[in-house]
Amino acid sequence: MTSQAAPQTLISGSLVIAGRAVAGAAADEVTDPATGTVIGIAPVSSDEQVDDAVQSAAQAFGPWAALPATKRSAHLTAIASWIRQHAADLATTLTLEQGKPRSEAVGEVDAAAKAFDYYAAEAVRVRGETIPTGSPTLRSVAIRQPMGVAAAIGTWNYPLGIMAWKIAPALAAGCTVVAKPAEQTPLTVLAVVAGAADAGLPPGVLNSVSGTGAEAGARLASHPLVRKISFTGGTATGRRLLHMAADDIKSVTLELGGHSPMIVLADAPMDLAVADAVKRSFRNAGQLCNSVNRVFVQRSVAEQFTERVTERAAKLTLGHGLADPEPNLGPLTTADGLARVEAHVADARARGAQIRTGGSRATDGELAGGLFYQPTVVVGDGELLMAREETFGPVVPVIVVEDADEAVARANSLDAGLVSYLYTRDLRSATLLSERLEFGTVNVNNVGGGDVPFPYAGWKHSGLGIELSRAGMEEYLRVKHIRTELGYQ
Ligand code: NDP
Repeated sequence: MTSQAAPQTLISGSLVIAGRAVAGAAADEVTDPATGTVIGIAPVSSDEQVDDAVQSAAQAFGPWAALPATKRSAHLTAIASWIRQHAADLATTLTLEQGKPRSEAVGEVDAAAKAFDYYAAEAVRVRGETIPTGSPTLRSVAIRQPMGVAAAIGTWNYPLGIMAWKIAPALAAGCTVVAKPAEQTPLTVLAVVAGAADAGLPPGVLNSVSGTGAEAGARLASHPLVRKISFTGGTATGRRLLHMAADDIKSVTLELGGHSPMIVLADAPMDLAVADAVKRSFRNAGQLCNSVNRVFVQRSVAEQFTERVTERAAKLTLGHGLADPEPNLGPLTTADGLARVEAHVADARARGAQIRTGGSRATDGELAGGLFYQPTVVVGDGELLMAREETFGPVVPVIVVEDADEAVARANSLDAGLVSYLYTRDLRSATLLSERLEFGTVNVNNVGGGDVPFPYAGWKHSGLGIELSRAGMEEYLRVKHIRTELGYQ
């Protein structure tokens, strides 16, 4: 593995308020989770800067909402182009602050550009309706208008991708935005917000604040001029924001924690099920809201499936995301995340579960300075902590079930309802089982998803509202009914 040193010069982020680059009231170090070295300096917003950012978004709202949709669309296209022009640097920064392998960072940057392209096309498709009335002189029209200032609060596992899923539809709808990235991974998002200003976005339309969620995030979300909160993160924070929004009757879209089940039935296409289980349990070191968090496998194929997943998991490589050759997994992004993984594995051991591979930190050689954990396959029962709570790490528990009914009942037994996976060759039964799964997304024989054309919604405690697709833009629009009497003298 090629050794990875810290960058020669620290990557420096700045805020954008009213179109101008602004230093924070304080500064915070950003650390590479693969080495523990400081790779950048991020601004920390003061309360006044958060207020200024919201004010500037509020001032920009009227003109931006009134701009013809074709012009707003052109601005989104310009942001997509800026992202593509700077993709290489953005991907390197993303790997350095978040830890993911560089090719995955490149993919995330590309997905962000695609989100701006997609909503550039949707911006000109905001439609209203004409409703027939009971009178020849009465007209009734429902139009859709933007909500106002949107607060976009994102998390650290897909910092840029998730933020693009908020900013792009909000701008397309005619909202102005204040974006707050997670404090662990602010640099890529801050760079894109600054890039949008360089790409000609009018001042105030897109602003950034930075700092902790408890301070900058809460100040932003509770600001009375913010009319929309779009949040991705943990369920506990989402609940807190919902309470906060209630005071001002703000509109809220929440994408929260998941606990995705993968159901593997006896007639599953086994090569595919094994490959997908490995892909979706360990990608981004398991730090995915739609990671496979528990596998329910039918008894007759359980041992075969588990052996093959274990064999593949044991061969996955770990390393710095910029190393050559590229590793399969980078480190966990946060020390708290690593501690949670360790606690979940310790719980599994204490309950007598089998640890088929992994089960400890990876500390050999250059890995010693980073937050690495070995890909881990566990065989146990539904009582394991990891089978009930989101581990958000490279760990997957396999649980044996007798039939599809038991699998569906167990899958539905938690409060999480983001994504589920189902593997069977019987597409008739897959259709019927899909309708019984209480999840916003059901993937049958694939682990794709989280893709901009398709609606992404968390059911139960996994969210509120919809992200992505045309429906994702509608979350930033409100309906106005215009009722006009023409029959006057
Ligand atoms: P958190 O809820 O802790 O943080 C998410 C964001 O909210 C961060 O920007 C954080 O700021 C901010 N924040 C924290 N407290 C407040 C507050 N009181 N007011 C306003 N903002 C606040 O989430 P995690 O870091 O734990 O993120 C991981 C979670 O995100 C997992 O549960 C995962 O499943 C979920 N997730 C869901 C996705 C989905 O699409 N459903 C996609 C990806 C992740 P800071 O970090 O700077 O303190």
